[in-house]
Amino acid sequence: MKITEHFTLEELSFSEAAARLGLDNTPMQAVITNLGLVAAVMEGIRTLLGDRPIVVHSGYRSAEVNQAVGGVATSAHCRGLACDFGESGASYLEVRCRIRPTDPRVRLGPRWPGATGIVVPPGSPDKAFAIGGV
Ligand SMILES: [Zn+2]
Repeated sequence: MKITEHFTLEELSFSEAAARLGLDNTPMQAVITNLGLVAAVMEGIRTLLGDRPIVVHSGYRSAEVNQAVGGVATSAHCRGLACDFGESGASYLEVRCRIRPTDPRVRLGPRWPGATGIVVPPGSPDKAFAIGGV
């Protein structure tokens, strides 16, 4: 199911670890609502980064899945408020140089090589990022 033009509920709640370990990773309605915000923010990021495809590595994680992948217990992924993604092989530093958060509650950070993570608390603006990093 498409949430926004380029992001689906399936990709934002897919977990390779869940599939491998047979764990349930079905988001509840409150989480789906949060993923709507994440998708809207990701749509903005995609546009800012030049409208190229973005690969979602990890969006929603159930508590079990989060534990299985070694996430911290308070991870925003468990509420559907985080997304780790890759963009055409760009490193975090490259992404960071091109976009900046527009809201102090929003986080942009490195994950693993080639992957960037965002955390968008409830109430964050859809346009949580703007062009022009540091
Ligand atoms: Zn993350």
